[in-house]
Amino acid sequence: MTTYFISDLHLDESRPAIARAFFTWLDSIADDAEALYILGDFFEAWVGDDDDTPFNDNIIEHLGNFSRPRRRLYIMHGNRDFLIGEDFAHRTAATLLADPTRINLYGKTVLLMHGDSLCTGDTDYMAFRRQVRQREWQAQLLTKPVGERRALAAQLRTRSQSVNSLKAADIMDVTPTEVVREMETHGVQVLIHGHTHRPARHMLWANGKQAQRIVLGDWGAKGWCLAVSAEAGWELKSWDIGVE
Ligand code: MN
Repeated sequence: MTTYFISDLHLDESRPAIARAFFTWLDSIADDAEALYILGDFFEAWVGDDDDTPFNDNIIEHLGNFSRPRRRLYIMHGNRDFLIGEDFAHRTAATLLADPTRINLYGKTVLLMHGDSLCTGDTDYMAFRRQVRQREWQAQLLTKPVGERRALAAQLRTRSQSVNSLKAADIMDVTPTEVVREMETHGVQVLIHGHTHRPARHMLWANGKQAQRIVLGDWGAKGWCLAVSAEAGWELKSWDIGVE
């Protein structure tokens, strides 16, 4: 049996091929998957569980069909879909995970994160993150009509794209000292995260020992996943999905 990790699919109606590639991939892992962890930014934007478009409903249905028979499904918020709530979790038979979360993976203790909180060099973003992760701020936002929330999400996205194009490349990556700090705080030798769109396996030093940071890839021209099993070990995989 295999445990899979994915992140940063950025599912959106404007890129239907990514959603199709995801459904195809879900089918392909159905026989050997015992658990799937989605580590944030599964959606390009999620403005609330009440945003029940046919596109969203279709994704929810596929996730539910995957998890309900016997597989475990876990979802962590990213910086774009932090409004995924309990209703979504209920409909997909998923468990929402806090960021960070520590799990036991075939005998190894592993820390899971989305990854945005590791990019401490981006002080503007860190301030924004603190605001949008507040429960009261989110509750206030959810009182607004869906249309208004969609408009706000689109506006934030446009602003983030124009701001990010001006930022130095290293600010958009993780801060190495922050990675070590988190791994030592949680006493782990393995960290899995997404967000940076820089898929790789990095060796580093934490807790006075060799450690590893595995970065998941974003879905676009390629799909990405980390597959872990007791028999086959750890494999960061990518495959062509022929989009953009
Ligand atoms: Mn992200």
